[in-house]
Amino acid sequence: MKVLEKYSFGIGDRFTRQGRAQLAAIVQAKKLGVDITPVWNKSNREHVTIHTQPDSLRAEADAAVKALGWTGSYYVDADHIGLKTVDSFLAASDFYTLDVADFSGKPADEASVKAFAAANTKFIGKLTIPGIEAPLEITEKTIMDAAGKFLLAIQEAGKIYRHIEEKKGRGNFVTEVSIDETDSPQSPTEMLFILSAIAAEGIPAQTVAPKFTGRFNKGVDYVGNLVQFEKEFNEDLAVIAFAVKEFGLPENLKLSVHSGSDKFSIYGPMGKAIKKYNAGLHVKTAGTTWLEELIGLACAGGSGLALAQEVYRKAFGRFDELCAPYSAVIDIDRAKLPSPDEVAAWDARRFAESLRHVQSNPAYNLHFRQLLHVGYKVAAEMGERYYTALDENEEVVARNVTENLLERHIKRIFLV
Ligand SMILES: [Zn+2]
Repeated sequence: MKVLEKYSFGIGDRFTRQGRAQLAAIVQAKKLGVDITPVWNKSNREHVTIHTQPDSLRAEADAAVKALGWTGSYYVDADHIGLKTVDSFLAASDFYTLDVADFSGKPADEASVKAFAAANTKFIGKLTIPGIEAPLEITEKTIMDAAGKFLLAIQEAGKIYRHIEEKKGRGNFVTEVSIDETDSPQSPTEMLFILSAIAAEGIPAQTVAPKFTGRFNKGVDYVGNLVQFEKEFNEDLAVIAFAVKEFGLPENLKLSVHSGSDKFSIYGPMGKAIKKYNAGLHVKTAGTTWLEELIGLACAGGSGLALAQEVYRKAFGRFDELCAPYSAVIDIDRAKLPSPDEVAAWDARRFAESLRHVQSNPAYNLHFRQLLHVGYKVAAEMGERYYTALDENEEVVARNVTENLLERHIKRIFLV
């Protein structure tokens, strides 16, 4: 059986050119004593926007591994797939993120609800979970509410899982269940019943992605109550440890943090919590690499900078169209966006410093950064011109990609 290692990093790469630069960060982390397994992930939505096929991500991962002589394991994640989209990922992927958020909040059939309730009545009362201070108060209503919110979704996950298992064979792939793209966060108590349902469906989930409290906007820092986040994150870890034993789920089951790039203010608490519980962690950091490509191009100056400025001009002009699909995960104040003419007058350094996620730099502009984050469609439409610019400026782009993953992400989570 493929067993996902304790620490893993989702390193999605929209334009599939930065595999080596990303892996280089993980190689350097290993030298610093942190073993991280790379997982290249790309969602169906990204493939459609960029006009790529899942096989191209596999080719990128294999090539990067070969080029750097990486002997550890690595995976290719079919990110956020459902029954309708999974088939084109069957050849390339050995990691599947089953996205069932769309099915949450919809009722399952009566017989399944009864069976779920019956299986969980033993928890009614005060449930003590090691690591959680006050016992969880479980009532019949808690169980029925959880069934109403999650049972159908987990049944759907079961269908997707069995479909993949039939094609790829049991134990030949890693399974993640994600319910992060829902409106409201899930409490640790809800996590317990989600895991109960996952076990009852026979899904050998190795990672689970809940929606945490607070905003996880794309490419920028966490916005929310840090104290509450830390409490819930710790309690989720306690619930997972409990559920692994209670429900016989895979021993290595761990949390997966989606939109996990750039959430610098919660990295400290996360790192502390996983050490405390001796828990694993998967962090998805896909979008941040595309922004480093733009920073690298800008730093190159000349035509590279001009291209980065052009991406901004076009993205600015197509604000509504580009932002609409991501409305739940961006918060852009239009009044704080520089005008395209202003940006066209910037030098390389000014552009890079406005975009690079260094909060202490007064030039850093998180609105500018978020708009460019969703602006990858503009670069995709440039097609060969964009790819050629990446190839021509490979070194400076790669340097930014590696530094971002290693210094701002890996070190801040694992080496604090
Ligand atoms: Zn996600």
